[in-house]
Amino acid sequence: MTDVTAEKNWAGNHTYRSRIERVRSVEHLQELVAAAPRVRALGSRHSFTDLTDITDVDDGVLVSLTDLPTTVEVDPATRTARVTGRAAYGDVATQLHAAGWALGNLASLPHISVAGAVATGTHGSGIENGSLATAVASIDIVGPDGEVRTVSRGDADHPGSIVSLGALGVVTALTLDIEPTYDVRQDVYTGLGWESLVENIEEVTRSAYSVSLFTRWTDAGIEQVWRKSRVDEAPLDLHGAQPAARTLHMLEGAPTESVTEQGGVFGPWLHRLPHFRMEFTPSRGEELQSEYLLPRAEALAAVERLRALGPRLAQVLQVCELRTVAADEHWLSSSYGHDVLGVHFTWVRDEERVYAVLPAIEEALLPLGARPHWGKCFVAGSDAIAPLYPRMGDFRALRDRVDPERVFGNAWLDRVIG
Ligand SMILES: Cc1cc2nc3c(=O)[nH]c(=O)nc-3n(C[C@H](O)[C@H](O)[C@H](O)COP(=O)(O)OP(=O)(O)OC[C@H]3O[C@@H](n4cnc5c(N)ncnc54)[C@H](O)[C@@H]3O)c2cc1C
Repeated sequence: MTDVTAEKNWAGNHTYRSRIERVRSVEHLQELVAAAPRVRALGSRHSFTDLTDITDVDDGVLVSLTDLPTTVEVDPATRTARVTGRAAYGDVATQLHAAGWALGNLASLPHISVAGAVATGTHGSGIENGSLATAVASIDIVGPDGEVRTVSRGDADHPGSIVSLGALGVVTALTLDIEPTYDVRQDVYTGLGWESLVENIEEVTRSAYSVSLFTRWTDAGIEQVWRKSRVDEAPLDLHGAQPAARTLHMLEGAPTESVTEQGGVFGPWLHRLPHFRMEFTPSRGEELQSEYLLPRAEALAAVERLRALGPRLAQVLQVCELRTVAADEHWLSSSYGHDVLGVHFTWVRDEERVYAVLPAIEEALLPLGARPHWGKCFVAGSDAIAPLYPRMGDFRALRDRVDPERVFGNAWLDRVIG
């Protein structure tokens, strides 16, 4: 097959093989979907694999909704906002805040599309905070026949349709739960030793509304603790960790202008909950990523196993981030059924070397019940993945019913979902 687009994902490690069509209206999208034998929706392209692409046939179409306007319609009575599918979280957040409203949580970057993020179970952090999909009250989705269906909370198909990997259709709008706008302060601490973490992991991860722990699995332990709090507080005694004296990036040598304000200064939620500012490149920009989400009860076992792998990982690791996500009921959510610890890896951008270490990580973590983040790099196939998701059979049945001809299928789904 020829490379017809030469357009790449954000990380630059995947060149889309299928033709990209920029849709002009929902009606145009409906016509495209009804006519094309194979279709996938393209979000903001922040996933790291061929998940989004169609690589196994020549006549696939990737539909991009970037030319459609971002609209945010607030309904104060139901405390929800209806937003368009391709909208980036950062743009939605700006409009919501201006109207006096807020979302309950955000991922580390505001650049990602709402539809693409919830499709892969994207999450932020916080003991009480579910993944971003848990805020989705309903979606409008164009099915294989080109018709728009609405799937709402309370419908039998809702728990299978939000985190659905683009396999059920193209989402044109989502209704999100909102709350009155609020302020957050962000405080970074440095130097939490392994012993302190092991003895106090519950207390540390509960110490703020959203907590991220950064490590390179060396003897330095947790090098940075990023705490995002909705209440004012004096500096904490964080088991030996000290408040950082200056603004820090979690990646060595990366420019600190791209991170959101630290130092305990209260400010609007949308300018503190993400780690990165909308107007800058998030993270390093030159990287790959993986993440495994495991039952929180197994957190210390995972820490021990990863510390043992530390020297091997060091050759390709930029940094590792530990976050918590509360349990939910979405069938393909990485936090389905139990609270999880997310172990995220920011790698160097070298596929060969990164994919060479992934089997060792999966050998260590999958037996603990770890589920790979759908949008990032992993090697497990459907045989290893299916047992991790108690409702995988229900999702496959939903897919058979909604898309029996696999109009929204691709090689990635064949490999991972089966
Ligand atoms: C720098 C960086 C930081 C990140 N930080 C986090 C983080 O903090 N937490 C986290 O969990 N993840 C994080 N991720 C991963 C990222 O959130 C996911 O890969 C997410 O899916 C990206 O959304 P997207 O719009 O770019 O989706 P794409 O990569 O474009 O698509 C992903 C999937 O969504 C589907 N999709 C997209 N749009 C639609 C639509 N309209 N209708 C139906 N399906 C659709 C696609 O078909 C595909 O299956 C990060 C990624 C990067 C690059």
